[in-house]
Amino acid sequence: ATFEEIGLGDGLKKNIRRCNYVKPTPIQRYAIPIAVAGRDLMACAQTGSGKTAAFCFPVISGVLKDPSLVSGRGDGGGGGGGGSAAVACPLALILAPTRELSCQIFEEAKKFAYMTGVKISVAYGGTPIYQQLRSLEKGVDILVATPGRLVDMIERARVSLGMIKYLALDEADRMLDMGFEPQIRKIVEQMDMPPPGTRQTMLFSATFPDDIQRLASDFLSDYIFLAV
Ligand code: AMP
Repeated sequence: ATFEEIGLGDGLKKNIRRCNYVKPTPIQRYAIPIAVAGRDLMACAQTGSGKTAAFCFPVISGVLKDPSLVSGRGDGGGGGGGGSAAVACPLALILAPTRELSCQIFEEAKKFAYMTGVKISVAYGGTPIYQQLRSLEKGVDILVATPGRLVDMIERARVSLGMIKYLALDEADRMLDMGFEPQIRKIVEQMDMPPPGTRQTMLFSATFPDDIQRLASDFLSDYIFLAV
């Protein structure tokens, strides 16, 4: 199988070629068609398996098909008014445990979304928040974030998760090891309780202990389990 055979859209496919991805890795071969078909997914995947593309391709593909891409959604643009700051309303959220991983995902995702019009931002802690907030004001379709910084932005009313249609959790076991479970639960609670099937959730983890299984049963609906 090749990426050409999966229904990903022309702009994304062109970027995949530009990145010299020809043959999908095993996790990509199985996860992408399932995710593009709209199913929730719990995938056991190690670092280096190609998992970043496995969740980025379906997310970008879905956002590209969404009628409310930033250009049509009317947030951002900011400029002008002296009033309160704009609230960013991303369509997709990718959560990762660390600054390093969130930056890595952000850089990859930007390459995959090059010239498609999809706007991507990153938010992580340990650095002043203001520059990240300014980037959000330009509008964001896909937000890559670490849990703590995202909660901070939500509490400052600078990010709303009410429009999230795609949620990906990367290295979920590491996020729990780092003590992020309360933040993650708080974040998911922020997403408007949609009718089942409205939000698509993908959970990636290297291991599948009890606490990850609990997260999966709480956040995913009718999901497919993949181990490669
Ligand atoms: P990841 O596991 O997502 O961190 O990916 C590991 C490395 O493999 C990254 O440098 C990716 O850019 C690269 N990679 C992922 N999938 C492919 C693919 N299908 N073809 C070539 N390189 C890939």
